[in-house]
Amino acid sequence: MKIALVGIGKIALDQHVPALKDSRDWTLAATVSRSGQVAGVPAYTDIDAMLAAHPDVSTVSLCLPPVPRFAAAQAVLRAGRHLMLEKPPGAILSEVHALQAMAQGVSLYATWHSRMAHGVAGARAWLADRTIHGGLITWREDIRKWHPGQDWILEAGGMGVFDPGINALSILTAILPRPVHLTGAELDLPANRQAPIAARLTLSDNITADLDFLQQGPQTWDIELQTDGGTLALRMGGNLLEIDGQPVDGQDSIMQEYPALYARMAALVRQGASEVDLAPMVLVADAFTLGRRVTVAPFDF
Ligand code: NAP
Repeated sequence: MKIALVGIGKIALDQHVPALKDSRDWTLAATVSRSGQVAGVPAYTDIDAMLAAHPDVSTVSLCLPPVPRFAAAQAVLRAGRHLMLEKPPGAILSEVHALQAMAQGVSLYATWHSRMAHGVAGARAWLADRTIHGGLITWREDIRKWHPGQDWILEAGGMGVFDPGINALSILTAILPRPVHLTGAELDLPANRQAPIAARLTLSDNITADLDFLQQGPQTWDIELQTDGGTLALRMGGNLLEIDGQPVDGQDSIMQEYPALYARMAALVRQGASEVDLAPMVLVADAFTLGRRVTVAPFDF
């Protein structure tokens, strides 16, 4: 099946292009980006021009930041093509609801790449019949290393520290045996920015989250949950599963996450199905609604 990629930036080049190159399901037939390109692939700067020139492109995958993504998503659905969305699936929930309403007769896939991490399925299975007593999410990384110069991430709609933090919430909402909701939040806003650089959340089941964009040195992407049957930990962004301190599953690599997303998209297209789970984004939206703001030092890259 022929696919087009829109927004040729960091994640497109790091993950989407290699995953498509190795895929048995997909051929990358076109790109749309103002300046980014992929060698040997027809490149466009306008999405409608690409859609008109490639009626055989059945599917479009959007790797743009969340704010500019909605207009591109509408163009894809108006043209009757299947649509795959990077996380978070939109800047706001109602945009995604609008896309769901538009996606009649085509597949819409709101991806959560961290849910494809090695340890996630095992964690979900282990937790299925357990009671959660409490938990701690620690999601701390260096914005300058992982998002160099990406000013959009700290603008309104960029989500700030929730851009990586929503990955943790996508795992949490996939592995818990029952739904979780927010009970409180504190958001650290740099005096010169519109989105938080750190956040602390409290959730039901005595779960807390410590999200920070200013970690120096190695990142920490851990989830620890205490249950009636022992302690589960997912480390390395969901890729290593530990039970009571002992590694039981996974490997320290994220390279299977995007191939798994594209395999899932192929299955959805073949089945004529869609997959849109907004639970992680609801938690982030609720944190922005409920959270206390704390003004902190200005931030510059
Ligand atoms: P990025 O490199 O800053 O942006 C991707 C591309 O989108 C840019 O190269 C740019 O291409 C285009 N773009 C940027 N701002 C635009 C605007 N206002 N209007 C139109 N096009 C614009 O961002 P990224 O890191 O790839 O992230 C994109 C999405 O992937 C985000 O939702 C992010 O959460 C998700 N993601 C990122 C990572 C990561 O490690 N970076 C990991 C997983 C998921 P042109 O200038 O050529 O148009």
